[in-house]
Amino acid sequence: MQEENSLKSLVSDIGGEAHKKVGFAILGLGELTETQLLPAFEKCNYAELIALISDDNDKANELAKKYNIDQANVYSYDHFDAIAGNERIDVVYIVLPNSMHKDYTIRSAKALKHVLCEKPMATSVSEAEEMINACRKADRKLMIAYRVQFEPHHKVIKEWIKQHVFGKVKAIECFNGEYVDDASQWRFKKSLAGGGVLMDLGIYCINTLRYLMDNEPVWVSANMYATPGDERFKEVEETILFQMAFDDGTVASCGASYSLNYQRYRCFTEEKIWFGMDPAFAYKDLKIEISPTNDGKEFPLPVVKEKDQFVLVIDHMAECILKNKTPKTPGEEGLKDQFVIDAIYRSAKQKKVIYLKEIMSEYQQ
Ligand code: NAD
Repeated sequence: MQEENSLKSLVSDIGGEAHKKVGFAILGLGELTETQLLPAFEKCNYAELIALISDDNDKANELAKKYNIDQANVYSYDHFDAIAGNERIDVVYIVLPNSMHKDYTIRSAKALKHVLCEKPMATSVSEAEEMINACRKADRKLMIAYRVQFEPHHKVIKEWIKQHVFGKVKAIECFNGEYVDDASQWRFKKSLAGGGVLMDLGIYCINTLRYLMDNEPVWVSANMYATPGDERFKEVEETILFQMAFDDGTVASCGASYSLNYQRYRCFTEEKIWFGMDPAFAYKDLKIEISPTNDGKEFPLPVVKEKDQFVLVIDHMAECILKNKTPKTPGEEGLKDQFVIDAIYRSAKQKKVIYLKEIMSEYQQ
């Protein structure tokens, strides 16, 4: 009933087609929210930003003014649960440090709000399961904001892999690095981040390759490292290197680091051709690359229109609510990554290959 009223109050007309806009509250006003998400809402077709939730009242009020949000719809963390009474909020978009995702997902579901949650979904398999169960119980949708899966260039690569356009892909190299120098960042605190660079950047390699391959890894093998004496890495890893193998015979060699800016992947085929993206995980200016043929001929590059990845994600969540569809990247998708993350950390710690089946059956017991 609450949901119905909320949607009815937001009927709009875009491009001659009448449809309703879904109301979002953003929880967490950090860098991603300020630089990407708030501007993205202004370009959405199906979503409307209704509320801000933050521990920084001054910042929240300032941003509310800038983005024309009613001051009455600015909430502090202490008053989070009051969103239950706000009929205009349909979805809570969680953009907080990783270890806070679980509690706020459960509280949002209890307030009968749908949840769009940033990656990584959680800091453990069991947290991810709790989030899925809470949303299921409240009959609310849960989506993980995996923007790569909505981005048009990656869709082209996925199709090339599926159709064997340059031959069957046998090996993939994937690296995601970003230099983060502020040692006081929550990303370097295990209690807030849940782990190191694997949780934050390595997850792009995991999720993107699972998406591109349309398959799950069978085993993983990993090593992690931190520069001795670097004060950023007292609790978490700086760099992680890992391999994944898929049941069609494809192997992937992946890495992530907080100490270099570099992000690309390359898919190597049995026809001695490679293709991929560089940069692969940036917010914009993504580029597809294809190696020359054996006799030096250049393949033409496809013309792909760039789209705002955050608009695609937010509008997809809104559309799923309007049409009562399951999101393309639901909580279960985040859970699958969480199993792989668990396996990678185990492999790095135990110095052995870890089979995904073993981990999954352990959790089922
Ligand atoms: P950030 O540090 O810029 O912002 C974090 C927000 O959480 C701030 O509003 C801060 O006030 C709040 N917060 C509440 N309690 C906190 C605490 N104890 N310590 C630190 N901050 C606290 O972080 P961010 O880069 O916006 O990342 C937030 C989430 O978004 C993370 O889960 C991250 O993985 C994800 N993220 C996703 C992308 C993407 O491309 N999809 C990009 C960046 C971040």
